[in-house]
Amino acid sequence: YKNAPPSVREVWQATKEFADRTYLVYEGERLTYAEAHDRVNSVAAWLFDQGVQPGDRVAIAMRNYPEWLLIYWACVSVGVTVVGMNAWWTTEEMAYALKDSEPKVLFLDAERLERVKDRPDMTGSMKLVGIRIPDLPANVTPWSEVIAHGGDMPDVTVDPDSDACIFYTSGTTGFPKGAQLTQRGCVANLMNMLYAGASTALAIQRATGVEPPADPPPPVGLLTTPLFHVTANNCGAYATTAVGGTIILMYRWDAGEALKIIEREKVTSLGGVPVMGRELINHPDFAKTDTSSLVQLSGGGAQVPPDLVHKIESSIATARPATGYGMTETCGIITSVSADFFVDKPDSAGPAMPNFEVKCVDELGETVPPGELGELWVKGSSVIKGYINRPEATAESITDGWLHTGDIARIDKDGFIFIVDRKKDMVLRGGENVYCAEVESVAYSHPAVAECSVFGVPDDRLGEEVGIAIVLKPGEKLTADEFRAHCAGIMAKHKVPRYVWFIADALPRNASGKFVKRDLRDRLSAELQSAGQS
Ligand code: ATP
Ligand code: MG
Repeated sequence: YKNAPPSVREVWQATKEFADRTYLVYEGERLTYAEAHDRVNSVAAWLFDQGVQPGDRVAIAMRNYPEWLLIYWACVSVGVTVVGMNAWWTTEEMAYALKDSEPKVLFLDAERLERVKDRPDMTGSMKLVGIRIPDLPANVTPWSEVIAHGGDMPDVTVDPDSDACIFYTSGTTGFPKGAQLTQRGCVANLMNMLYAGASTALAIQRATGVEPPADPPPPVGLLTTPLFHVTANNCGAYATTAVGGTIILMYRWDAGEALKIIEREKVTSLGGVPVMGRELINHPDFAKTDTSSLVQLSGGGAQVPPDLVHKIESSIATARPATGYGMTETCGIITSVSADFFVDKPDSAGPAMPNFEVKCVDELGETVPPGELGELWVKGSSVIKGYINRPEATAESITDGWLHTGDIARIDKDGFIFIVDRKKDMVLRGGENVYCAEVESVAYSHPAVAECSVFGVPDDRLGEEVGIAIVLKPGEKLTADEFRAHCAGIMAKHKVPRYVWFIADALPRNASGKFVKRDLRDRLSAELQSAGQS
């Protein structure tokens, strides 16, 4: 782009030129850009025929099917706001979000339809459209009818300050909040993503000495996280779509399946939460899979443990590790870092993107001295307008355009940002702050540890004690004392977990794939209480 397009409509319209290139791949299905445009136009024309107007809302409640993106581009192209419903929500959670956002139309797949079909109180006068459901009830319109409608993209001028979508936060720290992502904000994040991509290409060129081809082949991105969050949608899908790349969708994350897709489709970039990168490299099929197409393996949404950065660098010759730190509240990334910049500072999330101002502040909102820890506040054109129906939460989170991230960070002399913990997750042990990410990174340095998560456990004397839940690698043995001895050799005594809890199955995760510390804290506290130790 010469200039940033005013709204997402122009971003999608510009992709018409990619006509015959493959746009979407899902299992055996493939769709070109031209086919995608036909369907998107048809959805937009159909919505207008149903009386939907710019400024109205349309909700999507489904897993990562190609239809998700087609509906998304149709809505944002005509100024209709997409409500991204979390596919993991229970009936009651769906009821809450539908009441919160009041969509005119609700697109659903079979499992989501099952949750609302006997609940007219939830759906009211909403028009329902069924996706990939063979036997539809009479009151649900089949998707085939929507795309058979045909028609051109309605001619609409989209207001850059209108809401492109409402995405709910991951709910890692409490009930999800409906963030209002504006058209302008989504475009600003796309510009940041393109900038981050160009920086990676430059870093690779510097590291390898190989000039990139003048006309590089389109990227192939494997999207592994849900489209109702910014990581997959606003970062992965936007960046791949805007440059005419191919998007591959998976119904559910599976490291073995991902390896097959990487080899078959020559995937160039895979983004997900950090734990996915680890699962990929630890998978028994990893060594025999051809991963040479991979240029970038990125993890975001949570801290990438530094050992994983080095593991990616040493395990896949062609792929560079990358991360982005971001939030639903910023339509995507705030920082990004890749290749040798990341390897040199593997515990950093990288420098802020061009459209952000950043600062670390103390409890009073005063900027802390350079290099010191404080809550990270950020200001930029991709910060959300607010949370729908939650004026108090909005006022608490945004002051004078500065978004309070709720994350504790420090900024070094090069402008690199180090996220050390969430304010809410930090363990306050007898007046000492213990940062979970630091303890986790020490735990990962033990070779038997496959997965771990650190959290505070209520304690009468100290307020909180450090607890850790650990999943061991198959066949490995480790006792709590051995583990503590390992930690004590590396970090101060007060940070060594008092409660070491081995879990046989995987750690609890939310739909984004992030560990839910709340659940771990509650489960362990309950166990301690029933054992009379609390
Ligand atoms: P909720 O706000 O509902 O509790 P959430 O904060 O997990 O959930 P998201 O908006 O999906 O919802 O995630 C943003 C948060 O994820 C950030 O505030 C930060 O704590 C964490 N995060 C994202 N990327 C990174 C990263 N690269 N390194 C460390 N933490 C990250
Ligand atoms: Mg949050």
